[in-house]
Amino acid sequence: MHVAGSLHADATTPAPVWLTRPEDVNALTAKLWSETVERDPDGVVSVGGIRVTELAEQVGTPAYVIDEVDFRKRARDWREAFTGWTVYYAGKSFLCTTIARWVGQEGLSLDVCSMGELTVALLAGFEPARIGMHGNNKSDAELRLALAHGVGRIIVDSSDEITRLERLCAELDTTARVMIRVTTGVEAHTHEYIATAHEDQKFGFSIAGGQALVGLFRCHHSPRLELLGIHSHIGSQIFDTNGFEVAARRTLKLFAQFKEATGIELAELDLGGGFGIAYIKEDTPATPAELAAGLREIVEHECTAFGLNLPAMSIEPGRAIVGPSGLALYRVGTIKPVDVGGGLSRRYISVDGGMSDNIRPALYAAEYSATLASRSSAAEPVVSRVVGLHCEGGDILVRDEFLPGDITIGDLIAVPAAGAYSRSMASNYNHVPRPPVVSVRDGKVRTMLRRETLDDLLALDAGAAENEEQND
Ligand SMILES: *Cc1c(COP(=O)(O)O)cnc(C)c1O
Repeated sequence: MHVAGSLHADATTPAPVWLTRPEDVNALTAKLWSETVERDPDGVVSVGGIRVTELAEQVGTPAYVIDEVDFRKRARDWREAFTGWTVYYAGKSFLCTTIARWVGQEGLSLDVCSMGELTVALLAGFEPARIGMHGNNKSDAELRLALAHGVGRIIVDSSDEITRLERLCAELDTTARVMIRVTTGVEAHTHEYIATAHEDQKFGFSIAGGQALVGLFRCHHSPRLELLGIHSHIGSQIFDTNGFEVAARRTLKLFAQFKEATGIELAELDLGGGFGIAYIKEDTPATPAELAAGLREIVEHECTAFGLNLPAMSIEPGRAIVGPSGLALYRVGTIKPVDVGGGLSRRYISVDGGMSDNIRPALYAAEYSATLASRSSAAEPVVSRVVGLHCEGGDILVRDEFLPGDITIGDLIAVPAAGAYSRSMASNYNHVPRPPVVSVRDGKVRTMLRRETLDDLLALDAGAAENEEQND
């Protein structure tokens, strides 16, 4: 985690120590931006061959922009680095029918974890056999839909779910292919992981508590369930393989225990997602190739140690594919210097979006970066805070960033790495309609999700029509 509390000793603005003054405030740090992002000679940033000024005119702001070339390349990079393994794109990071089609075309499989996500995948024509279904509290309706379409695997999360699934399979006279999701006691986040014996969270069957082995036996003995193997997901925004090593050791030990008890080797192991991306210059995520090499070595080593054959392996990256492919585009509306004491002043730049289109800074204290995108500037960089329009002090999009001192009303600001967990977690807080998601490629803009309108929101308000009648 970054130390947000400590300040530069010689600061006149309250910058955290990790934030370094850029040599050139107009420079775009390649690892933060999608493949086709560049700054044109006149200073305007373009993506997919379209200038952001043109984009803002066409689709308005705020808007999410997905770089199609970049998304497809990242999907391919993951698939190729993990050749021989199955790569499931985690739909919760961002899903719509277009994305589901791209994922399918690039040869990846797809994870969903709700009726809505499954419906989008099916609507996109995604091959059900390549869909995995997650969820710690799947409803009868969700499981029925998954069974009716023959999804490739259902990741079972509880003993209640085994009972529910057996009942529904009997009702539909079918069988289900299942994995048991386990908790390994490993919890991993950026730069750190902890491995403890006990785990206090809602997901999965505990290995340490013995429930995982019981769950495996139940599925193994059920005539309605085909037990594929074990699933483990240890966290998010992880930069290295330490946590995966412990998780692999603990899950494969469970493979060995199951084999000892039944004489059968489980066929599949999924190590989950959570691979980190760069949100700020200081972030240093591993590449898919580095992760693949590391994970292959870990799994082979543990299999040898436990005397097991290598199971069929899979992973579930979401953020690492769509995150860097997307940027968020905002327009500046208000600029305010605020005296924060100690002779320090912080510059607040208010834009036309906020926590309703990106909750991550408020929810996880996530750090983001930003650039002035509608022009370049020769002004001195000033530590700034980019905030939204919501009635909430914590409505922050970019907590600390050097932006040109001459930023003014009407300028466009682009936030990189906004493709994952932005639109997918967006809300209508303050009755703000959610921004559109457009894809760009070779100078063409396509709508993936249109902008929500006030009429969309009012259509839900049963009393609104009543009032109209009264006014007539
Ligand atoms: C959230 C989640 C993922 C994807 O996580 P990313 O950080 O987007 O890679 C994968 N698998 C499971 C089970 C998850 O809950």
